[in-house]
Amino acid sequence: MNLLTYDYLNQKFGIDADILRRTEEAESKLACVFSDLDDIQTFNQYKVLHHFQEARINDQHFAWNTGYGYDDVGRAALEQLYADVFGAEAGLVRPTIVNGTHALASVYLGLLRPGDELIYCNGDPYDTMQTVIGLKGDAYGNLQEFGVTYKQVDLLPGNEIDLEGIKAAIGPKTKICALQRSRGYTFRNAMTIPQIEAWAAACKSVKPDVICMVDNCYGEFTDVKEPVQAGADIMAGSLIKNPGGGLALSGGYVVGRKDLVDKVATRVTSPGIGGECGLTFGQTRSMFQGLFIAPRVTMGAVKGAALCAQVFADLGYEVCPGPSDPRNDIVEAVKLGSPEAVCAFCEGVQAAAPIDSYVTPVPWDMPGYTDQIIMAAGAFVGGSSIELSADAPMREPYIVYFQGGITYEHAKFGVIKALQTLKDRGLVK
Ligand SMILES: *Cc1c(COP(=O)(O)O)cnc(C)c1O
Repeated sequence: MNLLTYDYLNQKFGIDADILRRTEEAESKLACVFSDLDDIQTFNQYKVLHHFQEARINDQHFAWNTGYGYDDVGRAALEQLYADVFGAEAGLVRPTIVNGTHALASVYLGLLRPGDELIYCNGDPYDTMQTVIGLKGDAYGNLQEFGVTYKQVDLLPGNEIDLEGIKAAIGPKTKICALQRSRGYTFRNAMTIPQIEAWAAACKSVKPDVICMVDNCYGEFTDVKEPVQAGADIMAGSLIKNPGGGLALSGGYVVGRKDLVDKVATRVTSPGIGGECGLTFGQTRSMFQGLFIAPRVTMGAVKGAALCAQVFADLGYEVCPGPSDPRNDIVEAVKLGSPEAVCAFCEGVQAAAPIDSYVTPVPWDMPGYTDQIIMAAGAFVGGSSIELSADAPMREPYIVYFQGGITYEHAKFGVIKALQTLKDRGLVK
């Protein structure tokens, strides 16, 4: 950061010199980390480009039709492109999949039948998925109500997947073994591609036809390979996270083995219709363009998370992942220790936003979650968390989850502003 920028941030945004100095020092410590992340970004950018060219994407694919949405060439091309980029056979990519929870729930509700068993293989599922499974919340329409049974195998100390425990848990009724790549609201690192590879191999070693499913939310483009290239049969995620590149206005994706994706499509639309219908509402252009820039956008967010880790670790906070830990999602968890600090951090992130920077986030009841959640997001796309955002369930030990930033500079400013707000309130450790 040169003197011009330094003075500008000081005068226009009221950032103190010591906070800017601290951030600059943290950034310089991360030079090697950033260089490795750049290599992943570069590879993924060319990977995406290659598949765009192979699929001969052209202007036609940005058009749309009406009614049933038969023969929408853009939709079909986009779905095949997602499959190709992620190394899968088939894809279902829809602006009408309302979020990641809907995409994931469609996989479970599309593939599991009464009497089948689902095993989560790395501890507690993401909050909204617990509601889908039937571990909490309203029972109406959840997996338990449909007679699907559930087991869970927790992680071992050191964030290792309990492969022997999973092998022992798999039984005649087990239909799906699920793994969540990102941390969710837990204080652990995301699962790495080698971990996912070993997990899928272990599941198949005791039951070759078990379906290995990965919740890939926040994981896309953080490595050069995706979970389906590491042995998973199917995976799903949200388009207002990494793969939408900040441009997709809504949506979710499911990619994997064709027979499985077809069954999920039957659930998302209806039996007999599957993926053959469904309007794209003119959204394919931004979905294509978002996917094209997603490798860079994702890495900007990953670097922002690493910077957040370094700045807060330097101040003595417990952070996860650590500054130079491997990164397989875009999230940084910072243990702030008090509700006041969580609110101040989130207010800082909100105040750093291009949109709604003048509003104050407050903890609130959210559908699908049981604890109150505070969410800071001043986004072009409502609720988009590939854009700069921070959120926290209001519970002990008061951990904030920081993610996103469609440019690295913006993610960096989120860190600066969060720290400045903590400092202004006398809440810095
Ligand atoms: C975001 C997320 C989901 C789904 O959340 P939505 O808000 O419904 O998109 C599921 N699992 C994980 C790990 C997530 O990060």
